[in-house]
Amino acid sequence: NGVLGVSASSSNENGNATEDRVSALVIGGGGREHALCYALQRSPSCDAVFCAPGNAGISSSGSATCLPELDISDSSAVAFFCREWGVGLVVIGPEAPLVAGLANDLVKAGIPTFGPSAEAAALEGSKDFMKKLCDKYGIPTAKYQTFTEASDAKSYIKEQGVPIVVKADGLAAGKGVVVALTLEEAYEAVDSMLLGGAFGSAGSRVIIEEFLEGEEASFFALVDGENALPLESAQDHKRVGDGDTGPNTGGMGAYSPAPILTSELQSLAMDSIILPTVKGMAAEGCRFVGVLYAGLMIEKKTGLPKLLEYNVRFGDPECQVLMVRLESDLAQVLLAACRGELPSVSLKWAPGSAMVVVMASRGYPGTYEKGTIIKNLDDAEQVSPSVKVFHAGTALDADGNFVAAGGRVLGVTAKGETLEEARERAYDAVGVISWPGGFYRRDIGWRALRQHVSK
Ligand code: AMP
Repeated sequence: NGVLGVSASSSNENGNATEDRVSALVIGGGGREHALCYALQRSPSCDAVFCAPGNAGISSSGSATCLPELDISDSSAVAFFCREWGVGLVVIGPEAPLVAGLANDLVKAGIPTFGPSAEAAALEGSKDFMKKLCDKYGIPTAKYQTFTEASDAKSYIKEQGVPIVVKADGLAAGKGVVVALTLEEAYEAVDSMLLGGAFGSAGSRVIIEEFLEGEEASFFALVDGENALPLESAQDHKRVGDGDTGPNTGGMGAYSPAPILTSELQSLAMDSIILPTVKGMAAEGCRFVGVLYAGLMIEKKTGLPKLLEYNVRFGDPECQVLMVRLESDLAQVLLAACRGELPSVSLKWAPGSAMVVVMASRGYPGTYEKGTIIKNLDDAEQVSPSVKVFHAGTALDADGNFVAAGGRVLGVTAKGETLEEARERAYDAVGVISWPGGFYRRDIGWRALRQHVSK
């Protein structure tokens, strides 16, 4: 490998020029990062895949060489590793290192990095920033106001009436949003965010937002600073319980495609939301490179999409279903995004559907036990060649058993010609896994399947 990790183009056995060869480093250690490593490992142009810190399942499945010792909060250590090992593509999975500016430092060090700068990550890190951008560039979103004083926030709430939505300005691990049905609930949310310090500095400003009624959908696009390329649709299930009940989680399962996102809605979302955002960010001197993951509300009264929130990374577990369906060379696609060359890319997807069922430690999203033993993971992958078990939070114990090391632990993923077939395979594989300390939802994909049946 060359010093910058991308060796010169070579020729394949037919004498045709092949793409740049590259070694990649994925930052993170969850199910999303396992899926990214898996797709990079399958990329014909990718020589080696590293993952920092990674997890036990990522290394033992051979998807990447994991680097538990590499301190990802130390960007010079990461850049040093890249130079030493000829890494020519860094893919940053989670939001925290993005908001901390890891991409800024790596790009400065000359390392192609897929993931936004800290300034551009403010699209997720600050709801106030995102809303102001929407105002300036005419991007449809819920009407809102920002407050730092509880009394002002409460007067505004009283004026607007309920239902109303109270949001902490900063990152609050998906828990900083209260949809208040009564004035008391709304006031309480304001107090706990502004006065109670419920989210530390993330809650020092609150956004009070109009309640939108409709169906939610997620939309993903790759962005290279100037251009955007939509990904296939995918939808997750945030609530812990069957029927989408109970507290919010990081996501208990997902499927792709998501029938709610029709091709008409996708082009509306591209034209009215994603592209104006990309152009707006560039005009603000804040070019965005990475994944834009838009949480949309398809408003009941108009049928049009409005932006609820942006995430600046792949969704987890939506990434798992997208990566098993992606047939293009992911390393080349992401390099094209880093180079501002997305218009030259066309993505190829496996036809049919994919589903991931998340298995979590009993008690999640509340307190849960770590260290419970998980068995038969290899057998689960024998259920069908289309089954892939992604590890979100596992470790190996002294006897070589996989044990749970987090809340969300496994993402049992399968493809099928139809969503029904993907579902059957995923749940068959889940049934093979022996893990008394874990649980999972039994109805992943129910909305999409219902829609399908009623057609
Ligand atoms: P967010 O993190 O902003 O996407 O909010 C989390 C969840 O709260 C969303 O997925 C919606 O279910 C709900 N939500 C957020 N904003 C609104 C809104 N303006 N109207 C209705 N529901 C909302």
